[in-house]
Amino acid sequence: MVSDRQNSKLAKSAGIYLHIPFCIVKCPYCDFYSIENEQDDFDSRESFVDALTAEIRNGNLNETKISTIYFGGGTPSMLDGDQVDRILSCLRDNFDVAADAEITLELNPGEIDIGRLTYYKESGVNRLSMGAQSFQPEELKTLGRLHLPEDIFTAAELIEKSGFDDFNIDLLYGVPGQTLDSVAENVLSAINIMPNHISVYSLTYEKGTPFYSMKAEGLLKPVDENLERVMSERVLEILRDAGYNRYEISNYSLAGFESKHNSSYWNGSPYYSFGPSAHSFDGRARWWNIRDVRSYIDKINSNESPIAGKESLSREKLIFERIFLRLRTSSGLHIPSFESEFELIFSERFETQLIELDKMEKDGSQPIYSYVDSYLRLTDNGLRYSDAIAELFVP
Ligand code: SF4
Repeated sequence: MVSDRQNSKLAKSAGIYLHIPFCIVKCPYCDFYSIENEQDDFDSRESFVDALTAEIRNGNLNETKISTIYFGGGTPSMLDGDQVDRILSCLRDNFDVAADAEITLELNPGEIDIGRLTYYKESGVNRLSMGAQSFQPEELKTLGRLHLPEDIFTAAELIEKSGFDDFNIDLLYGVPGQTLDSVAENVLSAINIMPNHISVYSLTYEKGTPFYSMKAEGLLKPVDENLERVMSERVLEILRDAGYNRYEISNYSLAGFESKHNSSYWNGSPYYSFGPSAHSFDGRARWWNIRDVRSYIDKINSNESPIAGKESLSREKLIFERIFLRLRTSSGLHIPSFESEFELIFSERFETQLIELDKMEKDGSQPIYSYVDSYLRLTDNGLRYSDAIAELFVP
C-alpha cells in the first residue's frame, strides 16, 4: 500500500516515451521490440503514426506537466520529418508540454539525411542519440550493424550542420573478439566527435535473441569477465580525463548535459509511454502495451485498449526500486528525502543490509560506499558490484 502522504507527493511533472518499432534489419543482440524493413512498408509506418496519435489523444494525464519526450525504438529516425512533426503536434495539443521540454530522438548512422534532421529540428526535437556502438568494422560486423565507421563521422557532420548541439553517442563494450585497445579507441573516437553525452553499455545476452542462442551453442565466445571489468575501468578513466562526468553507471556527460529523460527514470518520476511494447509508470503502478505492431494498430482502430498488463507496486517494491536505481547514480540516495517519502528511518529499516555492506567493504581492498552530506553513494569500486549490493535490499 502507498500512504496518502505518498499519493499527495505524486509528481506533477512527467516524461513521455514513444516506441517506434521499425528497424532496417534486426541486430542479433537486441531484445527491444521492432519489425524489420522487409515486413514493413511506408503504409504500415503511416498506419502506425495514425494509431500512435490516436493512443495519445485517448491519454489522460490531467494537469501533469510534460518535461521530457523521448523517441526510442526501434529506429525512430525511420520516421519522416512530417511524421515526427505530427506526433509532436499531437502531444502538444493534448498534454501540457513544457516550452523547454527536452525532446530526444534516437537515430542510426548511415540512415539519416540533412533534410530529415532539419525537419526534426524545426518540429521541436532538441536532442539526438546516435547508436554508433563501435568504430571498428569487424566489431560492427559481429554486432550485425549495417553502418561502417565512416557513417558515424558523416552522421556527426550532418547533426552539426542541421544545428543540433545536444547529442549522445551510444557505445558497446564486451563485444566478442574485442580487445582493451579497441575499446579505448572507440571511446577516443567518440570523444573526438565532441558529443556532450556518451553512453557506454556492456553487451548483454538477452533470452530470445540470436546472440543468446549462439552463446548457449558455443558459437559465440563472450569476453572474459575480468577483461570486461578492466574494459569498464578503462572507459571510465578515458572519459573522466576528457571531462565527462559519470552520472550513472553507464552514462557520462559534460557538465549540464545529463539526459533529463533518463534521469527521471532513476529519480522514480512518472513516465507515460505510447506505442507497441511501451511501459508506463505513474509512481504507484506499471502497465505495458501489447508488443505486436499489427495487433497494436488493430486494437487502436477498434477503439480497444492496447494495454496488455498492469502491476501495482507494493510499498516494499517501490522502496527497493528507488534504492536500486539511486545507487546506480553518482549523486546516490538522499537519505532524508527517502525517509520522509517512505516514512521510515533508514538506519533502523536497513540495519542488516548496512552491516552486510560493511562486511563487503572489509572483505575488499577499497571502499565501496560513502555517506557524505546525507547521501549514500557507491564509489567507483562499489558500482562494479552494484547488482550484488542491490540484491541486499530485495524485499
Ligand atoms: S539495436 Fe537498434 S537498430 Fe538494432 S535492432 Fe535494436 S533497435 Fe533496431
